[in-house]
Amino acid sequence: MVAKQYKASLLIAEDEESLREALKLNMELEGYEVTTVDNGPGVIKAVKNEYFDLIILDIMLPDMDGITVCETIRMQHNDVPILFLSARNSSADRVEGLKKGGDDYLTKPFNLEELLLRVDKLVTKNKKIKEPQTINDVYEFDGCVIDFGAHECVDKDGEKRELSKKEAALLRLLTEHEGEVVSREQILQIVWGYNVYPTTRTIDNFILNFRKFFERDSRNPRHFHSIRGIGYKFTK
Ligand code: CA
Repeated sequence: MVAKQYKASLLIAEDEESLREALKLNMELEGYEVTTVDNGPGVIKAVKNEYFDLIILDIMLPDMDGITVCETIRMQHNDVPILFLSARNSSADRVEGLKKGGDDYLTKPFNLEELLLRVDKLVTKNKKIKEPQTINDVYEFDGCVIDFGAHECVDKDGEKRELSKKEAALLRLLTEHEGEVVSREQILQIVWGYNVYPTTRTIDNFILNFRKFFERDSRNPRHFHSIRGIGYKFTK
């Protein structure tokens, strides 16, 4: 998973004890700070008292269902990201949940890896909106400059080039994780979003362009490395 710069805090609202505990454990393993509740009113109370980066909200909860909980939270002008969990696979439920202000929706039984990716994506997105990185918006390495705010870069020859939104997003993701491998899956989820899956070839083409821009010898890249079968790594 993408390394967290700070411990994001999650609220998990789930009345099935075994699932609640399993979610808590796995989220903690991912580095999140986790609070759990097992009923609807408990969620309302918790968000009043504490800040959360995300709520994982079961729809079928005792005392107040998840959709009503979500609606109540939104009426209080709280826009904490909410990811619904539901046992029912009905599109009406999904639509209702999203209409009431939910950000995402997952049907039980779900794939844990998928949940983790969605949680990570919502938390990351929320963080970016809240903390626009105006101060650290320029990144320099090996005589090259990436200006994320202006969507521009200065390449290895000192030429200014425009960057597309996706190019800038991918460069930001890779440089933020300098020295770490970022998986193809993470790149697709974070840069392209999980609704539209481009082929992984798309990422390769982006990397080829980055090498053209930034590598003095694009056949022996020093900065943009492909890690076969896993993903990509940027080194300064
Ligand atoms: Ca339930």
